[in-house]
Amino acid sequence: MTVSSVVVVGGGIAGVSTVAELRKSGYAGELTLVSRDGFPYDRPPLSKAYLAGEKPLDAIALQRPDWYAEQRITLVGGADAVSVRPDAGEVELADGRVLRADRIVLATGGRAILPAIARVRRDVSVGLPMGNGQDRPVVSPIHVLRDVADADRLRTQLVPGARLLIVGAGLIGAEVASTARGLGCEVVLVDPLDPPLAAAVGIEVARWLHGLHAAHDVETVTTAVEALMATSTGIAAQLKGERDSREFDVVLLAVGLVPETGLAEAAGLETSRGIVVDEVQVTSHSSVLAVGDCARLRDHHRAEHWEAAHLDGARAAATILEIAPPPATAPWWWSDRYGLHLEGVGEMRTPDAEHESVVRGVVGEPPFSVFTLRGERVVGAVSVDDPNAVRAARRMIDRAVGVRAVDLADPSTDLRKLLRGAR
Ligand SMILES: Cc1cc2nc3c(=O)[nH]c(=O)nc-3n(C[C@H](O)[C@H](O)[C@H](O)COP(=O)(O)OP(=O)(O)OC[C@H]3O[C@@H](n4cnc5c(N)ncnc54)[C@H](O)[C@@H]3O)c2cc1C
Repeated sequence: MTVSSVVVVGGGIAGVSTVAELRKSGYAGELTLVSRDGFPYDRPPLSKAYLAGEKPLDAIALQRPDWYAEQRITLVGGADAVSVRPDAGEVELADGRVLRADRIVLATGGRAILPAIARVRRDVSVGLPMGNGQDRPVVSPIHVLRDVADADRLRTQLVPGARLLIVGAGLIGAEVASTARGLGCEVVLVDPLDPPLAAAVGIEVARWLHGLHAAHDVETVTTAVEALMATSTGIAAQLKGERDSREFDVVLLAVGLVPETGLAEAAGLETSRGIVVDEVQVTSHSSVLAVGDCARLRDHHRAEHWEAAHLDGARAAATILEIAPPPATAPWWWSDRYGLHLEGVGEMRTPDAEHESVVRGVVGEPPFSVFTLRGERVVGAVSVDDPNAVRAARRMIDRAVGVRAVDLADPSTDLRKLLRGAR
């Protein structure tokens, strides 16, 4: 069937990539992007330059405002899709409008997880303005960070000297700790894992990265936060294992993401920790695709990284147009903290009978990188201030190039030569 109308729900990188790639690949039919947030913007700066006040909203736009009209994309901004009807090929918006589509692409992303401690004793709603009894809304001191509104609310409270508790020392919690230190806040970072992020970067790098917080006067505590209580001056946090609670002015809950699957579930599509898709982004209904943080390839973890969402969009466009998908590539991500640039690709593994960890340079003395090798095959790599190493590692993984640990470990080896098979 020739596709002549496509509706994409969700204006994050996955949704924007889908519409951009459709047009780039020659799709000439109707194309509609439903974006709850208005003009789509990029999320990674929300914990970095945007939160720091170094970049305004228009500097983090995914596309120029006039790009949508130039590309003949109908941007339905500030709109919520409330229902999708796959058999009828319809998407219904909150204002009652019904959009017709031969193909529907769900790019609905996810919401920040609200752990049980978010139910604060006394009435403090997470991240939302609350009344102060004098008709003037004040911003709640308890936050999550997923969108611009979250970042704006958090930013108003990250004033010099503010006591900030961050619950969760994953990538976003760590980035906010770094940004908040730059803004002059006192930061306590709590996570039960010791060290956090070991699964993503390997134990050695994880330990060093976590230690960086203390080097920047962030107190790290390895435990869980058991309760948050509103007090007359802020928020008291009870940390597991501590006798007395601690007082904070601001709290950020950074404990992960729940995929936004509500529309898909209501439409009867298969969901399980995400909207379940096949290798070409098609859901359990052949005319509905799902991309980005909301989607999960069966038997795989959700990626939850920017580039994965971008590539999903390109793959969905190719599926709709029945053209060859972009070549598969190992998953890649980046993060920044305390002026250091971190990148990762593939899968980092704890050394065991099958896997070996190879350090290039010295862990703790950037630039350096660490590779996971299975036999002579690289399966994962992380780098600090050495993106070329990760770029080379990605090619090694994608092309299944055989390499020797001794060559990888030698900083004088040109990794591009290893790629060509020369030693
Ligand atoms: C603070 C922060 C920092 C990050 N930093 C990095 C980083 O440094 N490196 C990295 O690799 N990744 C990073 N990420 C992750 C990356 O940004 C995400 O993986 C990516 O944004 C996912 O894109 P998406 O389009 O799938 O979802 P989203 O960006 O969540 O977009 C989904 C959109 O759909 C909208 N939507 C949902 N339901 C509806 C509906 N019913 N109707 C209309 N619209 C709807 C949402 O409002 C949202 O705008 C970061 C994420 C955050 C939050």
